[in-house]
Amino acid sequence: MDFSLRPEDVRWRDVAREFAQNEVAPIAREMDEKGEMPMALIAHMAKLGLLGSTLTKEYGGSGMSHLAQALVYEELGRACSSVRGFVTVHSSLVIQCINAWGSDAQKKKYLDKLATGKEIGCYCLTEPEAGSDAAGIQTMATHAKGGYLINGEKIWITNANIANIALVFARTADLEDAKPHERISAFIMRTDSKGFDRERMPGKELGHRASDHAHIHFHDCFVPEDQMLGAAGQGFKVAMSALDHGRLGVAAGALGVHQACMDASLDFTRKRRQFGKRIADFEMIQSALAEMKMTLEASRHLVYHAAWKKDQGLDSTLETSMAKLHATEAALKAASDAVLLHGGRGYSNEYPVERYYRDIKGLQIYEGTSHIQRIVIARQIVGKEK
Ligand SMILES: Cc1cc2nc3c(=O)[nH]c(=O)nc-3n(C[C@H](O)[C@H](O)[C@H](O)COP(=O)(O)OP(=O)(O)OC[C@H]3O[C@@H](n4cnc5c(N)ncnc54)[C@H](O)[C@@H]3O)c2cc1C
Repeated sequence: MDFSLRPEDVRWRDVAREFAQNEVAPIAREMDEKGEMPMALIAHMAKLGLLGSTLTKEYGGSGMSHLAQALVYEELGRACSSVRGFVTVHSSLVIQCINAWGSDAQKKKYLDKLATGKEIGCYCLTEPEAGSDAAGIQTMATHAKGGYLINGEKIWITNANIANIALVFARTADLEDAKPHERISAFIMRTDSKGFDRERMPGKELGHRASDHAHIHFHDCFVPEDQMLGAAGQGFKVAMSALDHGRLGVAAGALGVHQACMDASLDFTRKRRQFGKRIADFEMIQSALAEMKMTLEASRHLVYHAAWKKDQGLDSTLETSMAKLHATEAALKAASDAVLLHGGRGYSNEYPVERYYRDIKGLQIYEGTSHIQRIVIARQIVGKEK
């Protein structure tokens, strides 16, 4: 067993770390306050090759391993969950999905532009009445001349107000007699299509405030037949395969948030003095720091192992769900403790830990909540009754 990182993976980690610490971390608080992410950051990441990630060079990608991609997400997440979330949706949910399921023509049409950041992607699955129960979506695709008319709505769609390309999952009217998860089809849609209406999600969000989340309405929105991704009725499989990549991205992002909590907590508790000594020298504070470190390394092993399995071409659904569940839950506890260790200061945005605490809650919810990850894990280990 070799736990060392390969030089090319370290190189990608360092590229991401330098970018995240120099370009993202210094403006993370401002982005959070303003509720927006500068487009220049996206262009910069594209230039560095951070968007093309695992895609081969043939399609404008960077050809990095899944492990390198996880390291990139970890570094981005350490600086800002909104930026990491943007990339996970764009690269893991959209690019990798089109690469896995697309026809040659679709790959040629979309991948290079997405990998080089000329176009932005979003992934449209969740609806007002269907979140965890993704097979229960109600958006409908009805056959029309040369394609399909899409009608329905989607909520919480990350990147959708700035996206050019949308992966849209809809029930297929011709397949209404099939089982719920066999009547869904996936479509690649242009967001400037007539009848594709989007607006920002209402309300002030708890975290990820620099992210763009949209409510989309489809009104007789036409999509040509050749823009179906995979075959008719395969949409649920397409959606789940994308989540298998995306969840690893979320797990790695949570690892980054956890690391940031560790860094901030060590720095603060070494400097802050009470009762005539560093608070880091009190046993109860040390206990919290020790637990934060131990759970951080446990998450790291789970995340890197899931990525390693993907790099070996092995099934990693179980490992990915375990990584997502553990890394998000452990980071949530770490963020809560980090705020406590900072005392009253932790409650103010003068220090970054309150943002970590707000942001991490989102990672526990999206791409399958912690409850759903437990269901996935249990299904994998229990198996079907014979
Ligand atoms: C910041 C953010 C970004 C997002 N980005 C996207 C995006 O880009 N694209 C997209 O399609 N969606 C996106 N989502 C939506 C997200 O994936 C859903 O919110 C999530 O899947 C949960 O669905 P829901 O909100 O409908 O909750 P529900 O499914 O209604 O769940 C409510 C509660 O019930 C629990 N629950 C549900 N079913 C079960 C069960 N069988 N057993 C036990 N407990 C259960 C859940 O775990 C949860 O605690 C985003 C959400 C957020 C917050």
